Amino acid sequence: MLGSGKGKKIVVVGAGIVGVSVARRLQEKGYQVTLIDRLSPGEACSHGNAGVISTSSCVPQILPGTWKQVPGLLLARDGPLAVDWRSLPTLLPWFATAQRAATPNRVMKVGQALHALHVKAVEDHLAQAEAANCKQLVQRCNYLHVYRRKEAYAKDCNVWKLRRELGMSIEELSAGELREAEPALAAGFTNGVLLSGHGRTLDPGGLVKALASDFEHRQGRILQREVRALSQNAERGVSIVTEEETINADTLVLAAGVWSAQLALGLGHAFPLVAERGYHIMYAEPGITLHNAIMFAEEKLAANSMAQGLRVAGTAEFTTNIDKAPNGRRIAMLERLATRYIPNLNRTRPRHWVGSRPTLPDTLPVIGRSQLNRDVIFAFGHGHTGLTASATTANIVSALVAGEEPPINIHPFRPERFATHGLIRGSKGDSVESHAGNLG
Ligand SMILES: Cc1cc2nc3c(=O)[nH]c(=O)nc-3n(C[C@H](O)[C@H](O)[C@H](O)COP(=O)(O)OP(=O)(O)OC[C@H]3O[C@@H](n4cnc5c(N)ncnc54)[C@H](O)[C@@H]3O)c2cc1C
Repeated sequence: MLGSGKGKKIVVVGAGIVGVSVARRLQEKGYQVTLIDRLSPGEACSHGNAGVISTSSCVPQILPGTWKQVPGLLLARDGPLAVDWRSLPTLLPWFATAQRAATPNRVMKVGQALHALHVKAVEDHLAQAEAANCKQLVQRCNYLHVYRRKEAYAKDCNVWKLRRELGMSIEELSAGELREAEPALAAGFTNGVLLSGHGRTLDPGGLVKALASDFEHRQGRILQREVRALSQNAERGVSIVTEEETINADTLVLAAGVWSAQLALGLGHAFPLVAERGYHIMYAEPGITLHNAIMFAEEKLAANSMAQGLRVAGTAEFTTNIDKAPNGRRIAMLERLATRYIPNLNRTRPRHWVGSRPTLPDTLPVIGRSQLNRDVIFAFGHGHTGLTASATTANIVSALVAGEEPPINIHPFRPERFATHGLIRGSKGDSVESHAGNLG
C-alpha cells in the first residue's frame, strides 16, 4: 500500500486545523479524500487558539529542573499552570517521564526538531490560504514578548539562548521602545523582545472552515460522524467504524487532536497523550488594535487582534478529563490580567472558551506511519503549536502518502518512540509481536 496510486481511498479522521490542512493538501495532489468529524470543521481546539503562527516556538514544555518550579507555579494566583488533582494518578507518571527526558542534550534536539517543523510555517500557511481563496485570514506579523520584572527576563535567559543558537533574529527592546512598538500596553513592562518573521490568522476557527469549504467545493467529501473504533483489516487497509456505517480505507490519517490516543488504541498504539486545557476570553468591541501578536511572558498569555475582536488566550490546565466543566478561576485570571495589561480595552460582552491542546511528554507531535500498519499515518499531538505546524504537517503527510521524501526530517516525530501493544502486519498480511518504544 505504499505506492502513490491516486485511486486509493484515503480517509482523514479529525477536521481540526491539522486534519483539514492534510485533507486539502492530499486533494491538491490528486487523491480522493473523505474527511470525518463528529462536529463541523474547526469546532474543537482549533477554534479557540491565540491565532499566532509562531515560527519561534521551539522550547520544550518541561526543561531541566522544571519540577522545582512546579509548586510555585501551581500556588501563584495568576500562574500559568493548573493541574486537575483527580487526574494525578495518570499525570504524575506522565510528568516524571517528561522530566526524565528533559536533559540539556534532549532540549537542544527537541528545539531543533520543532524549529525545522516551524521555520517555514508562515510561507506554508500563506501558500495554503492563497490556494484556498482565503488569504485575507492569514497575515505576517511580529511577535512581541513582554516582561514586567527584570528578574523574570533574566530567568528566561536559557530560552532566549536556545532561540539564538537556532539562528532566530531577536531584538531586545527597552521599556521605552516597547511602549512605542505597542502603545496599547500598560506602563510598567521592563523588557521586551521583538521577533520578526511570524504570522497570525485573524480567525482561527474561520480559517479551518474556509479551508474545509474549499476542500468540499473541489469535490472533497466531509462526513459528520462520530468515529467509534478503528481497526486494521487482515490483508490491507483500515476499518473506520462510525455510528452509522463501517468505512474501509486504503490509507487512514488519524488527526483527531486530543482524542487520537483513544482511537489509536484499536490500532495497537498506546500514546501518552494528555489534555492541556487552555482558555480564551474574546472582547468583541475592544476599541483598540494590537500591532503585534503579544506574549505576556510571565503568565504565558497571548493577546491578538482578530476579525471578531481582541483575544487573550493561554494557561495550561493538565487533566485526563477533557469534558470537565471550565474552571472559573482560570477565566477570572484572564479577565484580571487583560484589564491590568491592556488598560484601555473595552471589556463589554466578553466571551469565554475552553479547549484541549493535545500534548505529549516530549513536546513533539507524532507525524509518521504506524510501524504496525503501514496504511495508517498519524498526525496529532501538536500541543501549543498545532496551528503553526498544520500547513507543514500537511506537506509532510501528503509526501508520505505519495511515497515522496518529506520536506523535513521526520525522525524526531516517529510514532515508534512510544510503546505499542499490537501486532505488526507484514507485507503479506502476516503478523509478528511488536516491541515497546521509548522517547529516545
Ligand atoms: C488557549 C490556546 C491557545 C493556543 N494558541 C495557539 C497559537 O497561538 N498558535 C498555535 O500554533 N497553536 C495554538 N494552540 C494550539 C492549537 O490550537 C492546537 O494545537 C490545534 O488546534 C490542534 O489541532 P488539531 O487539528 O490537532 O485538533 P482539534 O482542533 O482538536 O481537532 C480534532 C478534531 O477531531 C475530531 N474528533 C476527535 N475524535 C473524534 C471521533 N471519535 N469521531 C469524529 N471526530 C473526532 C474533533 O471533533 C475535532 O474536530 C492553542 C491552544 C489553546 C488551547
